[in-house]
Amino acid sequence: MAERLYHSDSHLQSFSSRVTDIRELSRTEGQSVWQVALERTAFYPTSGGQPHDLGVLTATSRSGAVLEVPVVAVEEDEQGEVWHQTLKPLLTGTEVKGEIDWGRRLDHMQQHSGQHLLSAVFVRELQAPTVSFHLGETVSTIDLAVDAIAHHSLERVERIANGLIAENRAVTVRNVDRSEADALLATGELRKLPERQGTIRLIEISDCDLNACGGTHVLSTGEIGGLLIRGVERVRQGVRVEFVCGLRAVAAARHDFSALTRSASLLSMPRAEVPEGIERLLAEAKAGAKELHKLREELATYHAVRLAVEEPIIAHLRLVRRTFPDRDEEYVKLLASRLAASVPQTVALLASTHLEPLVVLARSGDLDFHAGNLMKEALTRIGLRGGGSADLAQGRVSQPQLATLMEALAAAVRSATAQTAEHV
Ligand SMILES: [Zn+2]
Repeated sequence: MAERLYHSDSHLQSFSSRVTDIRELSRTEGQSVWQVALERTAFYPTSGGQPHDLGVLTATSRSGAVLEVPVVAVEEDEQGEVWHQTLKPLLTGTEVKGEIDWGRRLDHMQQHSGQHLLSAVFVRELQAPTVSFHLGETVSTIDLAVDAIAHHSLERVERIANGLIAENRAVTVRNVDRSEADALLATGELRKLPERQGTIRLIEISDCDLNACGGTHVLSTGEIGGLLIRGVERVRQGVRVEFVCGLRAVAAARHDFSALTRSASLLSMPRAEVPEGIERLLAEAKAGAKELHKLREELATYHAVRLAVEEPIIAHLRLVRRTFPDRDEEYVKLLASRLAASVPQTVALLASTHLEPLVVLARSGDLDFHAGNLMKEALTRIGLRGGGSADLAQGRVSQPQLATLMEALAAAVRSATAQTAEHV
């Protein structure tokens, strides 16, 4: 088993070691993925909610040739061996120098140690215990076993956590046996303890928190840099709190600040007034939409009258047949209804070709053919479906089918009204 150097020194960035084992994990299209075991390692494997390290293993041959092997993932197996995933093989027995991606590790330690601190403050201030933790690519979350958290309580917790960061309290590690850990749990000094037997690794934030953990941590709270709570949401087991620490907090604040500055610029107002500005715009938009609706109704009424006047009655029928490339479907439907309702002996056969063509058929109340049935029959003949009620129907067609459908409907309407007229 590899000696885990990060347990005793979380700030160790490079180390010397030797390859003790290698196995081929997979092979696709000639590319093998290898897993390398080392005598000792500073690489942290994914575990306990903290993602693995990245880095490089370097081997130097006797002739002085240097082979650099990037480590793309690190895992531990059930026996406790640490496996370094690589895309190049390394012979067992090879002396290597390991170097971890320090920026990534420090970021993980800041988020992870920040979680210890935040969980401790949530318990102390709101009696809200942490049930799980996740360290993500951009944000981290903890799930708390509570029903809800008030906004002002979140701000208070954030303020206290940042106070503890500023106090730069020592973060220390000590190993105890199971019975001692049980005793600490019983007195309430220890916040959480895993099931397993044997030596228990305890992480202590001076006068603040004691917790069992196998992860990597900062040496003092100041190194966390700062903590920003980003949001809360209800989840099955309670409340999920999203937070970021260190440079992630700066990056998140910078991102939000850029968005706010851009919004303020678009609104031509100071940043602080953006919420009021948006409220005003929304109110204006609502009033504008209401006014627009009213004007469309009025326009459709006048438009209907004009179309009726333009179209003569031939053989007891005023057939208004029009295609509107620049009118939306809702307006064309409204216009057809108004036209059919305003004058007798009238059929509106209108199409909106603003988007995909929509054909609307409406008839005045004194005519007695079934518009829905005519539409259905005409559409069926060109392999489409549609229909409607007795006085209003609609059907969607492709642009090349439009003329065919309009012609078929006009003929059907003439035929239906001629039969009725004869009957009368
Ligand atoms: Zn930890």
